[in-house]
Order: sequence, then C-alpha cells, then structure tokens
Amino acid sequence: MPSLQINDLEGSATAEFFSLAKKREAEGHDIIHLEIGQPDFQPIKPIIDETINAIQEGKTTYTVSSGIPELREAISQVYREDHGINIDPQNEIRITSGAKLGILAAFYSIINRGEALMVQEPAWVSYRDMATVAGARYIPIPIKDDFSLNQDFILSNISKHPVTALLVNSPNNPSGHILTVKEIRFLKDLVEDYEINIISDEIYNEYLYINSPANTLLSELEDWRNNLIVINGFAKTYSMTGYRLGWSISNTNIANGILKFIQASTSCPTNFCQWAGVKALQNREEARKIIKEVFPGRRKIVLDEINRTEGLTVGSIDGAFYAFIKYSFTDKPSEEVAKDILLNANVCVIPGTAFGKTAEGYLRITFSRSNEEIKEAFKRIRGFIEQNH
Ligand code: PMP
Repeated sequence: MPSLQINDLEGSATAEFFSLAKKREAEGHDIIHLEIGQPDFQPIKPIIDETINAIQEGKTTYTVSSGIPELREAISQVYREDHGINIDPQNEIRITSGAKLGILAAFYSIINRGEALMVQEPAWVSYRDMATVAGARYIPIPIKDDFSLNQDFILSNISKHPVTALLVNSPNNPSGHILTVKEIRFLKDLVEDYEINIISDEIYNEYLYINSPANTLLSELEDWRNNLIVINGFAKTYSMTGYRLGWSISNTNIANGILKFIQASTSCPTNFCQWAGVKALQNREEARKIIKEVFPGRRKIVLDEINRTEGLTVGSIDGAFYAFIKYSFTDKPSEEVAKDILLNANVCVIPGTAFGKTAEGYLRITFSRSNEEIKEAFKRIRGFIEQNH
C-alpha cells in the first residue's frame, strides 16, 4: 500500500511529457524534443578525462559528507576570483547530489513544518513537491505578464502567514527572467522588514543574454550570511546533468543543517564526479565559451521563429535556454495544446501549467537544440496551427 503522504506529491509534468514523447518515438514517429531541460553538448574533454582517471585511481569510495575539500576549495576560489566574495570552504560550502538535493536540503534545514515558502510563478516544476517533502507550505506567487516579481502579492501575503523563505530563480526556468536592480532592492527591503530567508537558485547564471545586474545574489546582499542560501551546480554550465553534482552556500549554521540532511539521505555525492567537478571549475573559461558561442544564436532563431508564427508571442528571453510562449490561436488549456502538438506535429513541448496554475495559456520550449531542429520544430508547429485553427 502506498503511504498516505505520497499522494500529496504531484509528480513531474516534464517527465510525463518526456515519456509520452518516447512512447510515440517507439511507435515510429520522428519526434523533436523541445521538452528536456538539459544542454545538448558533451562535457569538455578535461572533465571526461578526469572522470575516467578518477575511477581508475580508485576514487570510487564514499567521501566526507560535506564533499571533498578540493572541490569546496575550488568553488570558494571561483567566487573569490570571479566575484570578489570570500566564502569559507570548510564551513559555508556543501557539495550536494545535484542542485536539486541542495534545494531540498535547504528547505528542510530552514523551514519549520507548516511554515511557508513563497515561490514566484512560473516556477520550476519540482519546487512544489520538494516543499511538500520538506513539510513546508508552498505559496505560489501569481504570474505577471513580464515575469517580474509580483511585489504586491508578496507584500500583502507575507504577514498573513508565517513565511520563512522566498525562493528566487534567476535566470528563471521557464521564463528566462533575470532579477532587475529594482527587484533586488525590493528583496533587500523584504529581508530587512520581515527577516525572511532568500533561497537563490542560480543554476542558469552562466546563460545570460543581457547585461545582468547580478550573476549571484551573494554580491548584492551585503549581510548574506544572515539570510541567504545560494544554490548552484554543474548540470547546466558544464553539461554534467547525469553527474548529479551541485553546491550550497550559506552561513555555518544552515550549512550544518544541510550536512545533516546529506547524512540522512545520500551520505555524500559520488566520489569521482566530485573530482570531475574540480576539473570543470579549473577549466571554466573553456566550458563557458561553448555557451557564449552557441546559445545567443539559438535564442535569436527562437525569437525570430516565434515572431513569424501567428498566434504565438514571447517576451524578452534574458537568460537560461527556454522560451515561455504565450499562445492565442486557441482557448484550450495548455496541457491539451501540448498533447495536440505532440500528436499532430511530432514536437514535444511542456504545458505552461506545469510551472504553476497561474501559468495557463503558455507553452515552454527549450532551445538547447540544434538550429535545424529548432527551425523544423517551428515549421511543424506553424503547419499544425494553420491546419487546425
Ligand atoms: N533548478 C532549476 C531551476 C532547474 O531547472 C534544475 C534542473 N532542471 C535544477 C534546479 C536541478 O539541477 P540539478 O540537475 O543540478 O539537480
């Protein structure tokens, strides 16, 4: 018998659409996958070489739960060299099995059972279930047309509930929105006035198409040790999604909580993956070059294709590698539209409502795909819209 509480979890719509698409593929259909949130390039050679070396050198055992000191030192060095921020690798950095585990550990470490976590919609599909697992009350912040923080909603709801934390994800999955200077100022005031914690999911912070005011909130909140937890990882910047490797930065108290969570769950991240992580950071310029060379062009193609398609509109895409597209060619709910597109145009996209109930009327595509695939996908989608509407 499944437990009672497992029914509280909604599951991942992205995974659901991926398996639907796979089923169609097995039936012989040629599907273009615009649903998967992962880079389409291989990790650079030094990362692969180090992975193999590390295994051959016997780095296959458990490590200390906080992660190998070499990787924590390398992360600390990146923040020091790139942002001028000093972080104590021993006490303030924790290595986690994916950024995802870091986020879950952060929720569990700072939110009392039943207290609230606020998250701006559209929001990454997993936050809600992760909050539920951690025993937190999830308060979605209704979407705004320009995808900015809904400050009115936050201010009018923050005193109604015991809100412990606000999660921000900049650049945002799925909207690509990047926190503006004004929004950051709002966050600072919020922290001062209400003493809440900010959890900042910065996993897409190397995918930027505008001059971003902040690559990390660590450089914006001077007293970050009081109220900020930063989460990041290797999945997107280094295309190491399957390595399951991420990190958290927080004050020592919270880091100790995160450590307890790691000990109660995964014990430690995979040993040889951590060594590959060290190599990734040592070669970060080379890794970031791929992003800078390839992704702005893809983004432009996506914007052009959307503009050419009647019934689809999109705001500016400032970061990450998704387009959150508004459709007006039908009144149908996005889940139905996404299924129709998969069945009739052989293109897999994710319905807006996967990113929150207030995100109805949108579809998410990823442009972490070749230029040809992106163009062909939009050709098919245009054909579908013309034939059916
Ligand atoms: N945060 C966001 C916004 C994401 O989109 C993802 C991955 N899709 C993650 C966190 C999780 O990253 P990881 O693979 O390192 O667990």
